[in-house]
Amino acid sequence: DDGDSPYACSPSVDNKDSRGWDDVSVYNAKKKNYAWFQAPDGNWELAKILSVSGTESLIAFSETKVVKVQSDCLLRANPEILDGIDDLIQLSYLSEPSVLYNLQYRYDRDMIYSKAGPVLVAINPFKTIPLYGDDYIEAYKRRKKDSPHVYAIADTAIREMIRDEVNQSIVISGESGAGKTETAKIAMQYLAAVRGGTGIEYEILKTNPILEGFGNAKTARNDNSSRFGKLIEIHFSEIGRISGASIQTFLLEKSRVVQCTEGERSYHSFYQLCAGAPLSLREKLNLKSVYEYKYLQQSNCYTIPGINDAEEFGIVVEALDIVHVSKEDQENVFAMLAAVLWLGNVTFLTVDDNNHVEPVIDEALLTVAKLLGCEAEQLQIALSTKKMTVSGESIVQKLTLTQASDSRDALAKSIYSCLFDWLVEQINKSLSAGKRQSGRSISILDIYGFESFDVCPMIPRFIYTLLLYTYVCINEYIQDGIDWAKVDFEDNQACLSLFEKLNPNLRSSQKPLGLLTLLDEETTFPNGTDMSFANKLKQHLNSNPCFKGERGKAFTVRHYAGDVTYDTTGFLEKNRDLLHLVSIQLLSSCKCKLPQIFASNMLSLSEKPAVGSINKLGGADSQKLSVMLKFKGQLFQLMQRLGKTSSHFIRCIKPNNSHSSGIYNQQLVLQQLKCCGILEVVRISRSGYPTRMSHQKFARRYGFLLFDHVASQDPLTASVAILQQFGILPEMYQVGYTKLFFRTGQIGKLEDTRNRTL
Ligand code: ADP
Ligand code: MG
Repeated sequence: DDGDSPYACSPSVDNKDSRGWDDVSVYNAKKKNYAWFQAPDGNWELAKILSVSGTESLIAFSETKVVKVQSDCLLRANPEILDGIDDLIQLSYLSEPSVLYNLQYRYDRDMIYSKAGPVLVAINPFKTIPLYGDDYIEAYKRRKKDSPHVYAIADTAIREMIRDEVNQSIVISGESGAGKTETAKIAMQYLAAVRGGTGIEYEILKTNPILEGFGNAKTARNDNSSRFGKLIEIHFSEIGRISGASIQTFLLEKSRVVQCTEGERSYHSFYQLCAGAPLSLREKLNLKSVYEYKYLQQSNCYTIPGINDAEEFGIVVEALDIVHVSKEDQENVFAMLAAVLWLGNVTFLTVDDNNHVEPVIDEALLTVAKLLGCEAEQLQIALSTKKMTVSGESIVQKLTLTQASDSRDALAKSIYSCLFDWLVEQINKSLSAGKRQSGRSISILDIYGFESFDVCPMIPRFIYTLLLYTYVCINEYIQDGIDWAKVDFEDNQACLSLFEKLNPNLRSSQKPLGLLTLLDEETTFPNGTDMSFANKLKQHLNSNPCFKGERGKAFTVRHYAGDVTYDTTGFLEKNRDLLHLVSIQLLSSCKCKLPQIFASNMLSLSEKPAVGSINKLGGADSQKLSVMLKFKGQLFQLMQRLGKTSSHFIRCIKPNNSHSSGIYNQQLVLQQLKCCGILEVVRISRSGYPTRMSHQKFARRYGFLLFDHVASQDPLTASVAILQQFGILPEMYQVGYTKLFFRTGQIGKLEDTRNRTL
């Protein structure tokens, strides 16, 4: 599709030798002619085309390795002059191998950043590279450097915010361990360095140790994996200086508090506390070493190579000081951590013939009661009973061992996630205290890793797809009044409708049944299972062309970038978020400050009408706040907020699974590029109208070439006259309200004439 590229070099068909092959010597003399050949292992190799005959080609991988292959197995390689270009849309031949090769070419030279049309691609170097710091910040600020970089994205965001008076957002996506959180920090550092000055930027940067301490953990994929999504909105004053910030977090992975797989760790905060707490605090909290706690024992992993938890504890305490959490509150926070750890050590004893249990009164139970500020008996009751409403009357039922263990774990999870939310609230208070706001902001969204996502792994991908799709399709064209039906996009609507309208205000009759609603429904049914959920999906969504039911519990979604099969195992369990009313009542009666706050937050959540309706289904005995329901509201808010901003996209890529520098696994990279539709975006950007220029600039630049140039002509009239004089075909451009849009290669013609004339 690239006939007008100056680099396209098609093999000659004359000059045949006696065997019918094209004359090899001609090729050697001419421009190099290379192609990609896919080896059986799926990797692409570069080969020189020696000759072409009929449907076959003779190709050479080296002087000695020459093979004959079917020509249609070959994909044209780009000329050397394009090796390592900044932006993938400039490739003359766009194909998977050429994109992979170009990114690898750059990666091998520590150029980890590239552009893919509107998206910045960042490949995790897994080592320190000299691309950051004051000199680089200065260079990007002064526009002395223009190679792709997070700094360049952040700089563009600042400029557009000021120039257009529109809020900006930087959307960062990628698998776990791909570098999202680091990238977000790098962006933040740039904003702080360039637009700081009041000192608040220092406070904002210092929130990282707190959020990471309480919300990050070692996983198999990443030693410092964020287990929550984060949106940080940075506010600017009228004169464009950072004046404050607010942070919104999404769905902390709670299950990690009570269970975690071999080789992984629970949240850093537990290990930091046990390793770093000073003696007086240890005594107050009856703190033991990490090896003594059951919640931490199960994964058989206590340390992270190269990380000193005790030191990290000091850093977190310092950060808490900086965001104005009082020493007293800090102690309350640590007491909650200790309470969670001790809860895990609570054991149960069978007390009757119906397998009902009661917690053993031992050091664990007594310590939890002391830390929460309640009576041991109250805690005992909360852990071993539930309240039920039967025909209007409230009755108390005893629990079996499994039920009691679940209620203990649910309490631990709730305390921890409430603690996390409370910390975020304190940070927000500190970051916004007394600061005047101009209303302008730049938001940085760190979308939690796809495959590790707790509730429904397609959701972050969905957010990204939706935002990017909106960006590519609508921002560029509709805003400028272009007939975007002319731009050939794959229709994404069917796929989006799988997830239904996110607007919770829609009445149910207006809402098409989608994945989220079905998941929610099934969660509230007492007998719902992953299997029944999968069946329900098949039953309701099979008519959607983007949905395909698979055998058993699986189903496939056709994202516009490719098919992805999901296994529903564990979906329901993760969406259930049960905390018995007895436990909430326990927390609200505690003498300590934090449990009381947690309880009132939980109760206020349950007063929302949507939750009330869920309760009707689920019975009044427990707080059935489905995770999805909470998240749907958050998601809607998020989309609404981001929808009003001008977005910039960063896609982080993990080049290997062993966290090592210098290893570039083609298949792994390809899969990540495909997953978010990066290749598609490059194709669209290229096949659409990737070159754009304002009427003014266009008229200024080429106006003098007009045969009958009139100085007073308005830019639009001049532009149209130029287009006509140069015979640019109507299908090669689009005229927008403010800009002209061109297909690849069109500007080149004009530039050639301009250069000859000058
Ligand atoms: P994610 O948030 O996507 O799960 P992280 O941002 O935590 O991933 O990155 C994982 C690890 O990769 C980091 O701890 C760091 O070692 C490394 N890393 C990521 N980005 C960079 C970078 N730009 N330079 C050097 N190392 C990086
Ligand atoms: Mg992260």
